[in-house]
Amino acid sequence: MSRPPFSVPPEVMQALEELWSAGHAGYLVGGGVRDALLGRTPHDPVWDLATDAIPERALELFPGGTYENRFGTVLAGGVEVTTFRRDHAYGDHRRPDRVTFTDSIEEDLARRDFTVNAVAWGRAAGGQEAGWVDPTGGRADLDARLLRAVGDPELRFGEDALRLVRAARIAAQVGLTIHPDTEAAMSERAGDVSYLATERIGRELRRMLDAEPPSAAFRILERTGLLRSLFPELAAQLGVVQDKIPGQDLWDHSLATLDAAAALAPADPIAKLAALLHDTGKPETAADGHFLGHEEAGARIAQTFLSRLGFGSQDVRRVVRLVRHHMWSYVPAWGDAAVRRFMRRVGVDLVDDLLRLREADNVGSGWPAEGGGVAELRARIAEQRHRRPPLSLADLAVDGNAVMASLGREPGPWLGRTLERLLDSVISDPERNTPERLLADARTWAEKP
Ligand code: ATP
Ligand code: MG
Repeated sequence: MSRPPFSVPPEVMQALEELWSAGHAGYLVGGGVRDALLGRTPHDPVWDLATDAIPERALELFPGGTYENRFGTVLAGGVEVTTFRRDHAYGDHRRPDRVTFTDSIEEDLARRDFTVNAVAWGRAAGGQEAGWVDPTGGRADLDARLLRAVGDPELRFGEDALRLVRAARIAAQVGLTIHPDTEAAMSERAGDVSYLATERIGRELRRMLDAEPPSAAFRILERTGLLRSLFPELAAQLGVVQDKIPGQDLWDHSLATLDAAAALAPADPIAKLAALLHDTGKPETAADGHFLGHEEAGARIAQTFLSRLGFGSQDVRRVVRLVRHHMWSYVPAWGDAAVRRFMRRVGVDLVDDLLRLREADNVGSGWPAEGGGVAELRARIAEQRHRRPPLSLADLAVDGNAVMASLGREPGPWLGRTLERLLDSVISDPERNTPERLLADARTWAEKP
């Protein structure tokens, strides 16, 4: 057998054959094998290859490749080639103090985190036949849909705290049940995540959001106590009573909203983060069953939370704006000007996302998705868009230079204020958006502001 009994991209197979024909051992391992055995398209398009070839040799075999010193791997096209290795002592709960290369695939598999990630298919050095190497019973665990640590779970989590987070992420993403002993060790060691760099946690969080449903990952974190150590802002929602779905607390509501957002926008991390975070301001504003100002508090919490976890500033800004504006309430009596003011306040670029967030929030509250006039407001926004009314300073029929020239004044703070006021006036009445009328208004305001 020299073709694997699962589907592998041709360039990955080619890389494997390259190693074999140079007389090296070469195996497919890791998430690619795991996902392919489950019949899933691998989440990570990069396949892991394990070999006895040392990195220098791998670089010779894959001349286009680059050596990632930090990971000890050679990255070549769609594959990551890693030399068989043994890890030594994890003094800092994050990474081995020292790694040594070995020529044993079994040793290499023994240092991996979970049995389902420690399954290899390939060929020994100088070997003729390719086949499975599965010393930890990873395929049987995959059949039983079980995530189980390789070896003693407490020791393994103690070595590297990232494995705690990976366990929750992989179990949720792939749809596995965590073995009771492994889960007990996760609870035992939950506090160890304080050793981790927050950006690494952020990367795992991003991937948890892609689980179907994403709440599965957060329920695991909750059960094991990891939620409190990793994301105290989220854990603060546990047990906060609100009067929506009977028997459900604020945390249940946030997760239901998250799942609804994921169903509406499976590929949009912004939508999911906004859903997850939209009510994080409620615990600190709760008073007499009300949560006055929770959207502002939530925006602040979302800002700190996402920045800490290393999310990009543009993504952070979008999520924060969605959280800040999520409490709108529409009534059919709104005039067209009110619809335009809503678009302007929220931002034309964000208004669709905000309506979708409300749909998710509705579902998470046990209400119909379109409740609260979502459908009607969406139609009215579409109608406004169609008419292309002025909605931003760039749409004004005059610019700052024209206003300065007409009034004969130097630039200053007055100019921005005047332009904003002009914009307000044309949002109320788009007919006013002509240079003559705008300049006349500006002159009047300059005389009696
Ligand atoms: P994904 O599909 O998300 O890429 P993956 O399991 O392939 O999941 P990678 O980070 O690509 O995750 O790691 C590749 C393999 O390396 C894993 O399958 C596992 O065998 C091993 N590995 C990764 N991180 C660890 C770790 N912290 N401890 C032990 N082994 C690890
Ligand atoms: Mg991978």
